[in-house]
Amino acid sequence: MPQETIFSKIIRREIPANIVYQDDQVTAFRDINPQAPTHILLVPNKLIPTVNDVTAEDEQMLGRLFTVARRIAEQEGIAESGYRLLINCNRDGGQEVFHLHMHLVGGRPLGPMLKRA
Ligand code: AMP
Repeated sequence: MPQETIFSKIIRREIPANIVYQDDQVTAFRDINPQAPTHILLVPNKLIPTVNDVTAEDEQMLGRLFTVARRIAEQEGIAESGYRLLINCNRDGGQEVFHLHMHLVGGRPLGPMLKRA
C-alpha cells in the first residue's frame, strides 16, 4: 500500500484546508503557498502517488480533474485571461507531495513555461 500524505487527511477533512470543491472522486483546495493569485490543487480522492502509478482504471477520474479544473477556473474568473495546469512527477519534476495532484495556477501572466536550469 502506498503511504498516505497530508493530502489524504485534507480529503477526509481531518485537518483544515481551504476546500473549494469536493465530490466522490476529486477534492480541490487552495495551495498553502500560492505562486499566483489563484493557486488551487486538484487531488484524486484515491491515493495515487505519482503519474507513474496511474492505470487504465483511473482514466475516468483523470478526466474529472479536467472538468473540475475548467469549472473552478470559471468560478475564479480566470477562464478567459488564462491559466496553467501542471502535474509534477518525482524528483526531476519537482514533486514534493506523493499524492498525485494537478496545480491550477492563474490570475497573472505566468511567463514562459520552464526556467532554464
Ligand atoms: P508538488 O511540488 O507538485 O508536489 O506540490 C505540492 C504543493 O502542495 C506545494 O505547492 C505546496 O505548497 C502544497 N501544499 C503542501 N502542504 C499543503 C497543505 N497542507 N495545504 C495546501 N497545500 C499544501
